[in-house]
Amino acid sequence: MSEENLKKDHRDIGRELDLFSFHEVAPGAPFWHAKGMVIFKELEKLSREINERDGYVEISTPILVKKEVFEKSGHWNHYRDNMFYFINPRDEQESLVVKPMNCPESTYVYSSSVRSYRDLPIRLAEIGRLNRNELSGTLGGLFRVRQITMDDAHIYLMPEQVEDEIVKITDTIRTFYEMFGFDTSYVLATRPKDALGTKDEWDKAEKALENALKKTGVEYKLAKESGAFYGPKIEAHLKDSQGRDWQMGTAQLDLVMLPKQFDIYYIDERGEKTMPWVVHRAIFGSFERFIGVLLEHTNGNLPIWLSPVQTMVLPISDKQNEGAEKIYQELRTNGIRTEIDSNNETLGKKIRAAEIQKIPYLLVIGDKELKAKTVAVRQRGKGDIGQIKLEKFINQIQKEIKIKKP
Ligand code: ZN
Repeated sequence: MSEENLKKDHRDIGRELDLFSFHEVAPGAPFWHAKGMVIFKELEKLSREINERDGYVEISTPILVKKEVFEKSGHWNHYRDNMFYFINPRDEQESLVVKPMNCPESTYVYSSSVRSYRDLPIRLAEIGRLNRNELSGTLGGLFRVRQITMDDAHIYLMPEQVEDEIVKITDTIRTFYEMFGFDTSYVLATRPKDALGTKDEWDKAEKALENALKKTGVEYKLAKESGAFYGPKIEAHLKDSQGRDWQMGTAQLDLVMLPKQFDIYYIDERGEKTMPWVVHRAIFGSFERFIGVLLEHTNGNLPIWLSPVQTMVLPISDKQNEGAEKIYQELRTNGIRTEIDSNNETLGKKIRAAEIQKIPYLLVIGDKELKAKTVAVRQRGKGDIGQIKLEKFINQIQKEIKIKKP
């Protein structure tokens, strides 16, 4: 099998591309290197752009909170084994929890002022840093970690707003995964046997989700009785290039858990306190897992807008180092993530080293190119594509970076 076809583990890709590492001192928590952070930051940026477009506002809630919050939410009773918690050494009456999810805390922001029906839906997004006490035997690279970053959001709305909101979310999830070349499929998980809430509420909720899926026009499967006890949900699954199925995005409707436990309300048209419903939404779920899946899916050949290094300047010999340095600076000034390899090596060796890094464009600089103000371009996966004026190359690559496609 050629190197290109040999599918690698994302941990190996991470090492070769210098993206992240794991160390025994922090089980299940990646140490992100500079190049890995480029990917992470680009995804955060994308997530914020999508949220802004879709009418979300961003909040940030504390990592350490008192145990009472999670007692109230029910996690303390049902989820405690997966949580990190400790007694404050300065105050033995105070038990603190390292948040394993953002949901309960978002209600404090919602309830910090009186909300009217006119304010709804209120969409609170949070790029939340969470910690979950996963068993050490189950940890696996970026796929199963103890420290998780979620592109989380909680939408507070009226029951009659659910359908439109879910149409929006499903559309966003669909276009998001298309951007990376993944095939997505959808699952609608319905009322389980141990459901809380009335049958009437559940019927209304399930109908709203089903109508939304039909409106969006995506294909979906029913997973009967496999919803959460507090509401039905839509799961977005994707298939990677190795045919594996991953559950990523979710729109989880919450009829009772957050609304009832945290006693949240809005003032309705008649001036009465009414309980809203909540949608727990994630598009890519965990940043860590998404990056792991994407690295294996692309075998490290990330789309150009996500590539930590987008171009590498390769002077043929020491003689061109000075001229190549100017080109390198020019590319950087134009917002292109660029490196230069002025090591005293043969061009062949430099090209091979850069190819292992999966850099989209290599720019070979000889006397001829310096004289003509051109660069000799080698494109990832295509090889030599000829000479082009530097100015024109910058123009083209800037356009290419802006279009987010696989
Ligand atoms: Zn939530």
